[in-house]
Amino acid sequence: MAPSLTSLTDDALIALDNLADRASGLVNPTIRLGVTGLSRAGKTVLISSIVHNLLNGGRLPLVEALRSGRVSKVRLEEQPDDAVPRFQYEDHIDALVRERIWPDSTRAVSELRLTIDYQSASGWNRLFSPGRLSLDIVDYPGEWLLDLPLLSQDYRQFSQATVELAGTGIRRELARDWLSFAATTDMDGPADEMTARRLFEVFSAYLKACKSDERSLSTLPPGRFLMPGDLEGSPALTFAPLPGLPDTPAPKGSLRAMMERRYEAYKSVVVKPFFRHHFARLDRQIVLVDALQAINRGPEALQDLERALADVLGCFRPGHNSFFSSLVGRRIDKVLIAATKADHLHHESHDRLERLTGRLVDRAIKRIGLSGAGFEVMAIASVRATREARVKEDGHMLPVIVGTPIAGETINGERFDGIKTTAIFPGDLPEDPDQMFRTLDSDSPDLPDINFVRFRPPALETGPGDIKLAVPHIRLDRALQFLIGDRLA
Ligand code: GDP
Repeated sequence: MAPSLTSLTDDALIALDNLADRASGLVNPTIRLGVTGLSRAGKTVLISSIVHNLLNGGRLPLVEALRSGRVSKVRLEEQPDDAVPRFQYEDHIDALVRERIWPDSTRAVSELRLTIDYQSASGWNRLFSPGRLSLDIVDYPGEWLLDLPLLSQDYRQFSQATVELAGTGIRRELARDWLSFAATTDMDGPADEMTARRLFEVFSAYLKACKSDERSLSTLPPGRFLMPGDLEGSPALTFAPLPGLPDTPAPKGSLRAMMERRYEAYKSVVVKPFFRHHFARLDRQIVLVDALQAINRGPEALQDLERALADVLGCFRPGHNSFFSSLVGRRIDKVLIAATKADHLHHESHDRLERLTGRLVDRAIKRIGLSGAGFEVMAIASVRATREARVKEDGHMLPVIVGTPIAGETINGERFDGIKTTAIFPGDLPEDPDQMFRTLDSDSPDLPDINFVRFRPPALETGPGDIKLAVPHIRLDRALQFLIGDRLA
């Protein structure tokens, strides 16, 4: 039997938290929606757009309660968790709508509460339900989820897995400094702070190089090494995995013993509190995936994304021997995987993006047993930065997208100033993603050529009283209906 990832006391505490949440939920029905995804996947933009569209009567026809006119009021309320930073919606939407720049990305956990007043569709429910739903949106980095599997690994297993992965593909080159420095250290020699720090520095430089824009690799625990926040420089964040660890107890006072202790501290100071205070309390989850970026970076980035998503989805595995022990029970009952930034493609490719993303998570879903009513894959754009058109070229009508490239973007040698708009042919995704995935390991991987231009957020028309009209999107309403529609029934 796999070791339980949390101890009995942790389980009891989580069960207590859940009871408390449920008790308060009886008085004031609440749904806690987790929004995650690896950095730059589009979490901040998604939350800003959801909130703005709900508050301003945006076009969300697929949200049944809105379409049928049963929602009377949506408002922002004080977010309920005093120790969690509030999601700075006002700043983000101001950047998007007024300045037409993309807001600052997620760096840590934050939260926001929206309260929706509605009339239940059934007379029976109207009698018994207060017709009010609080939606607590919890934004957190996907990198933190990738830390959860560490709870079931000891330092030696973690080191082994990390060193093994570092020996594959492009990582081998990027990991060289870290591994050659590690090879010169005497792990059973006396613990020394400067060596520990140096090991941490070369190891986190390797993680950063993997994550850089040109590489865009995804699987990189410990997640907090890339976004340390206020723990920067603390012992819990000053360690590194070591190659070739023996299966014997570390000598007292040795560097190895110090690394082991700090790794365990990382789990108890960083990973467990995140699990307990945030993750274990979620009811629904949306996982954002930037599949287009990975396709653009090539086969290794795509395979790495597949691996990272398998680890992320593993966190939602129901049943025993997972983070959800029998005591905690399964709380998350709906997971949506959303391929973001679909506005980079012509609508003819949106379904293809959906299929491709489905294929990306397919193996993980089957292994975990997640498929069914509680799980869906969609292609969406939280903010539609482009519009579609057709242009004639060589006698053929070609589908194009039109937008304003951000200042500094270069297309075919032309450098854009952030004001001029342009039309580009975005490229097509393959009809059959299986065929594409089969070529990834071959000498000639067959990846589509996607013309990935970064556009500015769209210019919005102004309504009466200088109110900016709601933000355009793609299929955001479908996503919302899946995530909360049943709770507004
Ligand atoms: P986070 O790190 O997950 O919070 O990512 P952000 O929400 O900050 O998004 C990262 C970047 O992706 C943004 O700065 C935008 O350039 C881009 N982006 C995110 N969502 C969209 C979208 O719906 N459409 C387009 N065109 N770009 C998007």
